[in-house]
Amino acid sequence: MKKIAQLVTFICWCGFVNAHNHDKGKGFDIKVTDLGSNIFELRTERSGNVAVLIGTDGVFMVDTQMEHLVELIDHTQKKLSRKRDVNLILNTHFHRDHVRGNAYFKQRGAIIMAHPNVRRYLEKPKAIKMLGHISPSFTSEYYPTIDIATNTLIKMNGQSIELYHTPKAHTNSDLFVVFKEANVIHAGDLVFNRRFPFIDIDNGGSVAGYIAGIEKVIKVANTDTKIISGHGQTATIADLEASIIMLTETHSIIKELIQQGLSLEAIKALAPLDKYKEKWDWAFISSDRMITTHYYDITGMLE
Ligand SMILES: [Zn+2]
Repeated sequence: MKKIAQLVTFICWCGFVNAHNHDKGKGFDIKVTDLGSNIFELRTERSGNVAVLIGTDGVFMVDTQMEHLVELIDHTQKKLSRKRDVNLILNTHFHRDHVRGNAYFKQRGAIIMAHPNVRRYLEKPKAIKMLGHISPSFTSEYYPTIDIATNTLIKMNGQSIELYHTPKAHTNSDLFVVFKEANVIHAGDLVFNRRFPFIDIDNGGSVAGYIAGIEKVIKVANTDTKIISGHGQTATIADLEASIIMLTETHSIIKELIQQGLSLEAIKALAPLDKYKEKWDWAFISSDRMITTHYYDITGMLE
């Protein structure tokens, strides 16, 4: 019965949001998934997945997406929270598709928490050379309000919310969120579920740190834990273990070719990750980009 009720909620929400999109003419879709204990995942497939925890203590949100999606995100959470504003926000890291909604919510009174390196980056952004991106610009209205280093506990809406830092992982600013009683985790971009991950080598990320980060998530999870990914569908421990195996294997394949003296272009020409392509390739991180990630991680150089 509960499952049917959840399904009905899900279908209604999709219907509602589609109608909203139609009115706005923006054409964006949003999917709301009820993960229990008043925790909802808000997914647009265009930016980092958002989570909200709603209750009498207020609205807690994980990540804020982009300017062009933030109104839709807020509108959707307001339908769930009966028109409450968001009170407390955590940015899982500094990438723009997770923080560009900060200014919008800050103007409406939200307190924003993040690892100290999120603020450092927003104050002095660096280019992501690996993607050919120039430095973005952020004004102070995007900056977090409170620095959270690691192992912080928040009590809100009947949940013990634990925040963990994973050094040199996806970036050098990652925190993941554990909703203890609900057995739900928001892993930020430590999880690109069943997709090649983006690892931001230009900004302190590393393949070894990324794997260690996923292992840390697994350590605090169990087989029933619902793990919200930064990008992709809700994951389980099995999905995270599959990522570790893929990353370990592909890293050693590229390392071997580097040791043979091959250049990045020569390695790409061999298509050594072809057998992973079907399962892991996606629009943002192709096999070639995964090769570049490992190459850059191992050599510290881009060609
Ligand atoms: Zn990211």
